[in-house]
Amino acid sequence: MDAERERPGGGRDIGRIGAYRFLALLMLPAVLLLGGAGLVVFLSLDSIRVITDSLEEEHLPGILNSQRTMDNINVLRSESAVVFMAEDPRQRRAALLKARALVAESVFEQSPQIRDAAKTVQDLILKLAAARKRSDDASDRLHLNELRLSSVLGGLKLALGDVQTLEPTHNSRHVTSAARETDKARYERARKSFEPVLELCRRTDLSFAQRETCSAFQRDLRVVGQAWNEKGEADLEARALWKELDVTLEDLNNAASNEEFQRAYAGMEGLRAEARSMRIGFYVSMGLLTAMLLGGVAVLHRHILSPISLAAHELRQIRFGSPARQLPPVRIHELQQLLDLVPSLRVYLTELAARSGALEQEKNRYESLSLVDALTGVANRRSFDARLAESARCASVGMLMIDVDLFKNYNDSLGHPAGDKCLADVARAMQTTLYRHNDALFRYGGEEFAVILEDATERQALAVAERIMSGIRSLRLPHPDSVVAPHVTVSIGVAVARREEGGSGADLVARADSALYQAKAGGRDRVCLYGAEGA
Ligand code: GH3
Ligand code: MG
Ligand code: MG
Repeated sequence: MDAERERPGGGRDIGRIGAYRFLALLMLPAVLLLGGAGLVVFLSLDSIRVITDSLEEEHLPGILNSQRTMDNINVLRSESAVVFMAEDPRQRRAALLKARALVAESVFEQSPQIRDAAKTVQDLILKLAAARKRSDDASDRLHLNELRLSSVLGGLKLALGDVQTLEPTHNSRHVTSAARETDKARYERARKSFEPVLELCRRTDLSFAQRETCSAFQRDLRVVGQAWNEKGEADLEARALWKELDVTLEDLNNAASNEEFQRAYAGMEGLRAEARSMRIGFYVSMGLLTAMLLGGVAVLHRHILSPISLAAHELRQIRFGSPARQLPPVRIHELQQLLDLVPSLRVYLTELAARSGALEQEKNRYESLSLVDALTGVANRRSFDARLAESARCASVGMLMIDVDLFKNYNDSLGHPAGDKCLADVARAMQTTLYRHNDALFRYGGEEFAVILEDATERQALAVAERIMSGIRSLRLPHPDSVVAPHVTVSIGVAVARREEGGSGADLVARADSALYQAKAGGRDRVCLYGAEGA
């Protein structure tokens, strides 16, 4: 926004903007920020979706593959145990084939580590099978030679006489530790048992045939020893290979499970990183939005709410008539226009107040004029009607209808201006005869007057009528053309109504008028009470 600057005239001038532009400037950043935050959230969600998809498409098959690899490794372990331990060569062969098939599956493994380990496993398992085969072969040889040895020994027995019985050295292919130890012990025992035979064969008195049998026996014994050695070596090698195989398979299992874990961890790590960036984006957006909101509220308060409240305060001051003061300039030019109106409003309101005071006075004056008869100065017919309506609340109301006698003649003889003056004099004279504050005289119309006496009895009404008669008489206004008297006289009809009778104001007027008619008919210059005999 533009900087404030001093006006040449002394007042401050500020760069103003329109309300719409102001609101747009206020809202635009918030909307942009909201859009940005929405975009960040959208992108993060999309990225999470991509990670989830990739987890599903890439990692999940990998994880399942690792699982399968681990299953295969377990099977391999049991199959290799069969290759190592089974007695039946067919069972071993089947186990070997199954193990090789499982190892062959490893070419589909993605991890080079697993592939290499699988190759090692294959080599070991083949070597194990070969060692077991060598052991079997040696065992077979051993068996065969043992048979031969026993037949030779039989021959020797016949030839040499008393010889200890040879115990069989090998009757099992068991390669377990216990079995081997047993065989070895037997073999040693057998060797010892052959000692007397060998002792006999060393004798010098042997015949040719006996020497031949002895040398055959010694040869066969050597072959058996050799076969024993071979079998022992093959069994040891097989055992070592099986152990190595077991360790390798264990390592392979660890590698596969580690790889599965790595894959799952990589997927989780990606998700975690995305969630972290989403959280940071959310916090930053919320912080900026809050700051923008607070800033917006502050700007709104300073440039809109504060000037409006100032204007309201100033308008109140005007209402209570406080002196005007200089209002500070505001940024929004529509508001400035409003504030500029305040001083002129003050002038206008002051003028309006003065004018309305004058009008009030005028109105009051016209109101009072409308109730007063201009010629006589007494209350007029309108006042009469109003007072008659009001007097309905009184317990009793007395009504006097007063008519100037032969006034037409008066006019005719003295002229209308004199007639007007006569009416004014008569009215003034009647007015002076009324003492009570709620007795009132009205000009009823033409040369007729009426008096309303609130809460008056007939006697009081007749007394007032008599006072009026005498007051007019005492004026002694000359009436040259009257047949009643040489001066102006009046006739008065009197009627009194009580509230409990329930009659209306119009009834009362009619009764008074009727009494007046009687007074006229009776010769004028008199008072007649309605309802009274010979009034
Ligand atoms: P009566 O005794 O029977 O009342 O006879 P009257 O002549 O008074 O009665 P009438 O009704 O015949 O005449 C009334 C006259 O009063 C007629 C009229 O010119 C006159 N008059 C009514 N109002 C005024 C007024 O304001 N000024 C003047 N000068 N004369 C008025
Ligand atoms: Mg008359
Ligand atoms: Mg008259």
